[in-house]
Amino acid sequence: MASGLLQPEERVLSTLESDGSRRWLTPKLSRGRFLTARRWVAYALILIFTAIPHVHLNGKPLILLDILHRRFTFFGYTFHPTDTALLALFMVGLIVSIFFVTALFGRVWCGWACPQTVYMEFIYRPIERLFHGNAGRGGKPAKTIAPWRRVAKYVVFFIISAVLANTFIAYFAGADNVLRWMTGSPFDHPVAFMVMAVVTGLMMFDFCFFREQLCIIACPYGRLQSVMLDPHSLIISYDPKRGEPRGKLSLKQLGPADPPRGDCIDCHLCVTTCPTGIDIRDGLQLECVACAQCIDACDAVMEKIGKPIGLIRYSTQHVIAGHARKLLRPRVVIYPAIVLAITALFTAVLLSQGDADVRLLRSLGAPFIQQDDGRVMNPMRLKITNRTDAPRTYTADAADGVALTSDQLPVEIPPGQSATVGIQLTAPAGGFVNGRRQAALTVNDDAGFSQTVETLMLGPTGAAGAPSRNDP
Ligand code: SF4
Ligand code: SF4
Repeated sequence: MASGLLQPEERVLSTLESDGSRRWLTPKLSRGRFLTARRWVAYALILIFTAIPHVHLNGKPLILLDILHRRFTFFGYTFHPTDTALLALFMVGLIVSIFFVTALFGRVWCGWACPQTVYMEFIYRPIERLFHGNAGRGGKPAKTIAPWRRVAKYVVFFIISAVLANTFIAYFAGADNVLRWMTGSPFDHPVAFMVMAVVTGLMMFDFCFFREQLCIIACPYGRLQSVMLDPHSLIISYDPKRGEPRGKLSLKQLGPADPPRGDCIDCHLCVTTCPTGIDIRDGLQLECVACAQCIDACDAVMEKIGKPIGLIRYSTQHVIAGHARKLLRPRVVIYPAIVLAITALFTAVLLSQGDADVRLLRSLGAPFIQQDDGRVMNPMRLKITNRTDAPRTYTADAADGVALTSDQLPVEIPPGQSATVGIQLTAPAGGFVNGRRQAALTVNDDAGFSQTVETLMLGPTGAAGAPSRNDP
């Protein structure tokens, strides 16, 4: 039926019909060397992703992102809220490393290692193919799908999504807690149950409905990688010099009188196999997640028609344009240099860390009080973070004529936690010059830790023994 709407000359988005509705993709599975390799990598990654919250190093989970307490554990080391510099160095190092890997290998993460691709293509999609009646062969689902098959598929999807959700939550709450919540009554842990239900729902939404849309329109990482590519980065490319002019393979076209044709027989298998629905022959596109399915599809076609494989292959835009491969360029030198510098700095800061963080803070209110005996008292707060894995008891003492008093010391602090105690530093008024004097206090624990911190005490600016007053 004729529509009053202007029709686009070509498809605007690979997942959009011309009337604006969603174009559902059912990519055909293409077997080949890259699918086999990706399958092994995917299974290994699924095993690793699932195992990480359960594996312990130095008595801690391999990765634990405890957002609630602002403590992040990576490979046996815990970053505390006071480790802002270390965490910042770690994050900057990670980001620059991503820049480096992308400059060299393009979107290799997206196609080979991203959990979205791994679970979608190697768990959910095979199950869907199984229930939709075209097990192992890919391609379009059967025309009519029995309702029981759909129901069974969604039941299996739900079970897998629940397992995935619990694994995901274990990264943030710890595997032990998740196991306790799973085996307990939802009424005992209503909040945890709600979180599990919501995350399971999000998994279902993503893998049953949103699918490739996550890579195409939602993932900032995809956008980031795409802008970080240069003409020398490894990408999946179609070789137009070899493939064009494309044309259907037929006996007539193979005749000697026919005009010369490129190797592409326009079979569209590279398009029907693409999980994001694009045609790689149009060149590098933002939607390409570098899954290499089009390579496997095209290689099989080339083998069938007796042509060399590699019409679609891993290459660079520079090489495809007919130039020699150029590995060395400024960014592949600068990025690793930055990563090395950050690693050295990170290591130096890490090695200089003690068993505890000690911070001395001024109390709110009056900075000093001149007592009746003429001495000057500074109320302060001592913040101690126990960085060890055992509870420690801390005391503090001052020297050089300064007295330290506190009714909150000694204090026992659980592992990985902080405590702030009120202390008073008192010194004779005669020791102050222009209202100031240096003081040092030493914090010790019951396991040999000792750290001295220096501070500036404030006092009266007038003659010693002046009437009591508070310096504003
Ligand atoms: S699979 Fe190969 S031969 Fe077939 S259309 Fe794609 S590029 Fe051409
Ligand atoms: S164009 Fe090829 S490599 Fe890119 S997403 Fe599609 S099938 Fe995968």
